[in-house]
Amino acid sequence: MARDSRYDILFEPVAIGPKRAPNRFYAVPHSSGMTNANPLTRAAFRAAKAEGGWGVVCTGACSIHPSADDRPFPNATLWDDADIRSHAAMTEAVHRHGALAGVELWHGGAFSMNRITRLPPLSPSGIPWLATHVPFMSQQRPRAMDPSDIADLIRWQGEAARRAHTAGFDIIYVYAGMGYLPHEFLLAEYNRRSDAYGGPMANRVRLVRELIDVTREATGGRAAVALRISLEELRKRPGRHAETEAHEAIELIKDDPDLFDVKMDTSPTDCAASRYTPEGSHEPVVDFVKRITAKPVVGVGRFTSPDTMVSQIRRGILDLIGAARPSIADPFLPRKIAEGRSDEIRECIGCNMCIASWHDGVWVRCTQNPTAGEEYRRGWHPEIVSRDSGGRALVVGGGPAGLEAGLTLARRGFEVTIAEAREQFGGRLAFEARLPGLNAWHRVIDYRLGQLKAMNHVALYPASLLSAEEILDFGADHVVLATGSRWLSDSYSPNEHPAATLTGQGIMTPDDVAADAPIEGPVVVFDFDNYYMGSAISEHLARRGLTVSYVTPAGFVSAWTINTNELPLIHASLARHGIAVKTLNLVSDHGDGAVMLRHLFTGERARLECRTLVVVGHRAPRNALQAELAARADDVPAAGIASIVATGDALAPGAIVHAVYNGHRTARELGLRPEQRILRREA
Ligand code: ADP
Ligand code: SF4
Repeated sequence: MARDSRYDILFEPVAIGPKRAPNRFYAVPHSSGMTNANPLTRAAFRAAKAEGGWGVVCTGACSIHPSADDRPFPNATLWDDADIRSHAAMTEAVHRHGALAGVELWHGGAFSMNRITRLPPLSPSGIPWLATHVPFMSQQRPRAMDPSDIADLIRWQGEAARRAHTAGFDIIYVYAGMGYLPHEFLLAEYNRRSDAYGGPMANRVRLVRELIDVTREATGGRAAVALRISLEELRKRPGRHAETEAHEAIELIKDDPDLFDVKMDTSPTDCAASRYTPEGSHEPVVDFVKRITAKPVVGVGRFTSPDTMVSQIRRGILDLIGAARPSIADPFLPRKIAEGRSDEIRECIGCNMCIASWHDGVWVRCTQNPTAGEEYRRGWHPEIVSRDSGGRALVVGGGPAGLEAGLTLARRGFEVTIAEAREQFGGRLAFEARLPGLNAWHRVIDYRLGQLKAMNHVALYPASLLSAEEILDFGADHVVLATGSRWLSDSYSPNEHPAATLTGQGIMTPDDVAADAPIEGPVVVFDFDNYYMGSAISEHLARRGLTVSYVTPAGFVSAWTINTNELPLIHASLARHGIAVKTLNLVSDHGDGAVMLRHLFTGERARLECRTLVVVGHRAPRNALQAELAARADDVPAAGIASIVATGDALAPGAIVHAVYNGHRTARELGLRPEQRILRREA
C-alpha cells in the first residue's frame, strides 16, 4: 500500500552534525539488559529496529570508566579497547539496514554504587543520590570530585568516545540526565562547589561543554555529538538571565552539541506508565528547546500515532521522533507507516514491563512484542514467522495467550479456529482494561484481533464455551488450551505464602468484581498479589462511591510496581480517592461486618469495618478441560488430535507479558521436535 502523503514529513532526512539520519524515526538510548557479555543478542535486538525502519538506533547507557559501575543492574561498558569488539557487532548489524548507530556514554556519578569495582562513587559535592530509594541504595556514600577528578572524567569520556568511534558508532552521547554525573553538576542544591564548576549556571554547564568538546576532538569531528539532558527540575526554577534555569542552560550551550536529546529527570516521569500519564507528557517541559537552538532536537513521549508525530514536528516541538518503548513494542513501526499500514502498528500499552526487566537485571521483555530479546536466542523475528506448517489448530480461549497463539499459528500456515466462551474476545483484559487508567492495555487485544480478522484461514467464534466432548468432535490436528486462570480467596500466612481459603458471606475475588456482582460497602481490598490489580480495583470501587480500605502484608501499595515506575503514582492516586491504606497487615478473620487485621511483624491485632472483602492474592489455572481430556487419553488419537497443550495462565498464571510470551512460544514450537527448536547461547 502507498504511504499516506500526510506522513511524508516523517521520512525526510535530517542532518546531525557530520551525519545524516535517513528519516525522523529515532530509537533513543534505552536499556536492553544486554551487556558486553551478550554482543550477538544485543546486536540482533537493535538490528530489528534498524530493519524496521528506524533511521537512528542507539544502544543503552554505556559506562566510560569503572568508577561508574551499575552492576548487578545490567551495565554495558567501553572501559578499554577490549570492549570495542562487542559493540562493533551492534553497529555492523544496524548499518546493514542503512541506519545510524548511536551510543550513550554514561557516568553515573553518585547514582552508581560501584558494588563490584568498589570505587567510591564520584559526585560534585559528596552528596548521595536517591539514598532513600531501596533498589538503588548503598551504604557507600560518594566523594566530592577535586580538579584532578574532573580532568580524569573528561579524559575518560574522550577515550571512551574514541573507542566508540572505532566500534563504528555514528552518534556519540554526552549524558547529562536522570541524576547521572553531568546532570548532578547542573542542579544548584546538589552542586555546592565554589570553583569554576559550581555557582551560576554558566559554571554549572561548564562540565557538559567540556565533555562535548572532548567527545568531538576524540573522533576528529567525524562522529556526531549528542547531548542528552534532563530539563524537568531546571524548568521549574526561575533563571537569573532567562525565564527558567532550563532556558538558561540551553541558551548557554545552544551551539555546542550536534543534537539535543531532551528528557525528564526520573524514570517515573521520563518513562511514565500509561496508567496515570498520557502520550506526549514531556511536551510542557521540552517544548522550548527548539526556539533557542538551531540544532536538531529529539524527544520521546510514547508516540505511536503518526498524526501525533507529524504534529510534534509541524508545531516545532521536535525534529526527530524519539522512541524507546514504541520501538520495543513494534520495531517495524516506521516501515508500517511507510507502507501505508499504520493500522498494523503494535502499539505500546505503557505497562512498563520492559522497565521492570531492567530492574530484574534481565534482557528486555515486552507485553506487546513477545519476540523482544529473543531475536538471537530463539531466532524470533518480530514480523516474520516462517510458513512451515499446514493442518488445523483449535485454540480454546480468546485472551492474550489464545489470541497470540492463534495469530502466530496462522502465520505459520495453520488453519486456525479460536473459540471463546464469552461474547467478547479479550479474556482478563475485557475487564481489566476497563479499570481506571488501564484503557490502553486493550491494545493487546485490538492488535491481535485486527490481524486475525484480516486472515481468511482463521475462524473466530465468540460465545462458544467448549467442552472436552466438543473439542474431541472438532477434529483438529492440534489443540491449544488457553483458558486462563481464576482468582482464589486464599488467605495469607505469616510465613508469607497463600494459606487457608477465606469463606463466608461478602468474600469476593476480582472475578466477582469483573462479573459485576453486587457489592456492599465498606469494602476492604486485601492485596498480596502486589501488582496492579489490588490498587486498580480499590480505585474502581472508590469511584463507584464505596468506602474502600486497602490492606497488604507488603510495605507499599502494589509493592511490585516499584519496578514499573508506577508505585509513587499509585500511592498518590489512592490518597486522592480517599482510600485508607494499611501496609504490613494480614487479614486474619472476617465476619460480623468487620475484618480482623494482624500486623505481619508484631502480631498486633486491629478491627476494620467491612461488609465486602475483596481478596486479590493467589490464582489457579483454569484447567478442568486439561483434566477431562487427560482422563480420555485414549479418545484423543482416535479424534485425530496429535497434540494438546496448555498455555498462558492456563499453564501457569502470570502477568499479561507472560501470557503473550507463552502463547507465542507455544505456537512457534507446536509440532516441532525438540531438536528443531532454536536456543542459542553466547558463551
Ligand atoms: P490468558 O491471559 O492466559 O490469555 P485469560 O484469562 O485472559 O487468560 O483468557 C482466557 C479465556 O479463555 C477467557 O476469555 C475465558 O472466557 C476463555 N475460556 C475459558 N474456558 C473456556 C472454554 N472451555 N471454552 C472457550 N473459552 C474458554
Ligand atoms: Fe510498551 Fe509495555 Fe512493551 Fe514496555 S513492555 S514497550 S511499556 S508494551
